[in-house]
Amino acid sequence: MDLRSDAVVLFGVTGDLVAKKLFPALYELTRRGRLDMPVIGVARSRWDHQQLITAARKSVLEANGRVDDEVFDALTRRLTMLSGDYADPATYQRLAEALAAARRPLFYLAIPPAVFTAVVDGLAASGLAGRGRVVVEKPFGRDLASSRELNRALRTAFDPERIFRIDHYLGKESVEGLRVFRFANRIFEPLWNAEHIDNVQITLAEGFGTEGRAGFYDRMGATRDVLQNHMLQVVALLAMEPPATAGDDAYRAEEVRALRQVEPLSPESTVRGQYAGYRLEPGVAADSNTETFVATSLRIDSPRWAGVPFHLRTGKLMPGTATEVVVEFRTPERDLVPATGGDAPRPNLLRFRLGRNDGITLSIQVKEPGAEVTGRTVELPVDFGSALGHRREAYERLLDDALDGRHLRFAREEAIEQEWRIVEPILDLPEPVASYPRGSWGPAAAETLAGHWHTPILR
Ligand code: NAP
Repeated sequence: MDLRSDAVVLFGVTGDLVAKKLFPALYELTRRGRLDMPVIGVARSRWDHQQLITAARKSVLEANGRVDDEVFDALTRRLTMLSGDYADPATYQRLAEALAAARRPLFYLAIPPAVFTAVVDGLAASGLAGRGRVVVEKPFGRDLASSRELNRALRTAFDPERIFRIDHYLGKESVEGLRVFRFANRIFEPLWNAEHIDNVQITLAEGFGTEGRAGFYDRMGATRDVLQNHMLQVVALLAMEPPATAGDDAYRAEEVRALRQVEPLSPESTVRGQYAGYRLEPGVAADSNTETFVATSLRIDSPRWAGVPFHLRTGKLMPGTATEVVVEFRTPERDLVPATGGDAPRPNLLRFRLGRNDGITLSIQVKEPGAEVTGRTVELPVDFGSALGHRREAYERLLDDALDGRHLRFAREEAIEQEWRIVEPILDLPEPVASYPRGSWGPAAAETLAGHWHTPILR
């Protein structure tokens, strides 16, 4: 592992991401004694130090419900503000002066993608990029070509080892837990293949809409916003082969290999939807064909997964919020125990809850009490909150890792390019999106895509 960074620069410190995620993460790192370095907020807005502190306190309060004054005071002693235009070389000159004592600053680009290149160029021209690390946020481009363009721009300024691409799903304990589940529980590995698994379903449902960011969302849509990145990352973790060694690099290489085996998505196996009333929202084009829902089925061209569909769906204004993976096993070859009520035998389901109330549930068949020998489904649930206690937020872990120069939980350039390759055939389809009622599971056509969707446990 490389040496730890000795300064943090937050470009876009006045923005939504810093308020929602980064101030709380910096506060938690301060609490744990992991932030003994200056933190410089940069923005065009002419905020003074007091405005910066007020914004930081507000976001910590919103995230935690309370602020520990001792911790917060320690954080405020680190914070300074630098206002300037990203196109003006003087901004980077002043930044270089502020960073005179820092040998390994971390530049966090919490700014809209349209401004990335200007900032990267400014950091390169001022000589700051040469000794720093950079963190970039999704979206990593809009398609394969623009993603490559962005990578080229980043690489002209930063050594690849110093570029950190955040897909915050990789920082979630529950998502990382898929790795432990797969490779530390020997009982499941013999079953983890087409012989025993019928299908895999991944649902990323949001019970809310665009939350005042419809203008931004309208240029993205569900495929670019979450399917291309978060959902395909989860597919890679579920589908990958065991790495040859336990090291970070071997592990990440297997993830990429799994993505390479995923066949491009086809418009015929995809249903795109838009919730009723979306086009009336401020910032949304009156004739917008942007999908707020997408469901699709993908195939993985590998001996392990031959013939096993992975059904994926995500949408806004669904009946509730949940991120779940359901692995549906095949039913017994011989039907020796009928299900209660004469139903067809029920499959075993392994359900990974990756959202806020995370955990794992295995459903098994037991004997229905009574004179007849029939099977009934019961569940073996594990709730991680009660079993494991407090776990750190994704952004706190990711920021800590980036400061250490540790890459494991960051998206690899090749993984991102593979993800764009997979979704490219369903980007910007000309066919009109199907409207769906708010609070439903999307257009009717999506219901039948998976044969039968398992309803997630909602909150
Ligand atoms: P944001 O609030 O829209 O913008 C961040 C800041 O950038 C603004 O406060 C603004 O500050 C500055 N800015 C806006 N437009 C600009 C322009 N045209 N030129 C120069 N500066 C401009 O963005 P965000 O939601 O925080 O997101 C930041 C990055 O994280 C984006 O790449 C986004 O895609 C990604 N991201 C965000 C979220 C989220 O939950 N918000 C989640 C995942 C990824 P000043 O005008 O004061 O300079």
